[in-house]
Amino acid sequence: MALEITRVLGVYAHPDDADVGAGATLSRFVRQGAYVTIVVITSGGEGGFDDTPREEIQEIRRSEQRAAAAAIGVEDVRFLEGYADGDLWVTRELVRDVARIIRQTRPQLILTTSPERNWESIGASHADHRAAGEAVLRAVYPAARNPFAFPDLLAEGLEPWIVDEAWLQGHPSRNHHVSLESVDVERKIAAVSAHGSQFADLEAISTFVRERAIVDASETDAEYAERFFRVDVRGHD
Ligand SMILES: [Zn+2]
Repeated sequence: MALEITRVLGVYAHPDDADVGAGATLSRFVRQGAYVTIVVITSGGEGGFDDTPREEIQEIRRSEQRAAAAAIGVEDVRFLEGYADGDLWVTRELVRDVARIIRQTRPQLILTTSPERNWESIGASHADHRAAGEAVLRAVYPAARNPFAFPDLLAEGLEPWIVDEAWLQGHPSRNHHVSLESVDVERKIAAVSAHGSQFADLEAISTFVRERAIVDASETDAEYAERFFRVDVRGHD
């Protein structure tokens, strides 16, 4: 029986990671009635291409992420505090913070970036993306489900939670595709375009997003798709 996915959690290092890697898939989940939460670990203070003052860029990127999420229909966007762009590491604090949100949101599906390096995509393999992916998977297993891990979470009233699946972006061997409608691709383009501080040429990025969705659908019956490395993380205990 196919897994019924009603709650989806996406956890990412930077503003724009959710939209660039999974914007159309998140749009589809929203259209199907799922509750989607997007968590951004850093505020992206090292991103950009122009002379926008550095002290302003973090708030700009947070507003861009809220606008991007709205474009795909996601209202629940959360930003963690205390993690710096370009300096993200797998720490006990990060694993605990992600485990807390997993217990709060109780998703069947979690999306994040691959902790494994993809030698064909240096951008997807950004060190922050790999650190985020590793911390998220540590939070999925065992921290979120283990009542003896991070007892302070239990003390906060957060019961253990078992996530069923993880879908990883940018992984070297993507084994799963999501069939998408053109509305999902258009909403993804709107979401990606909301990150105006990151993309100098919005026309070019829109074309790239559309063409990528077509390429990712080749070898499938779909017109458009996004692809992931899908992992069953239920485990046996
Ligand atoms: Zn990123």
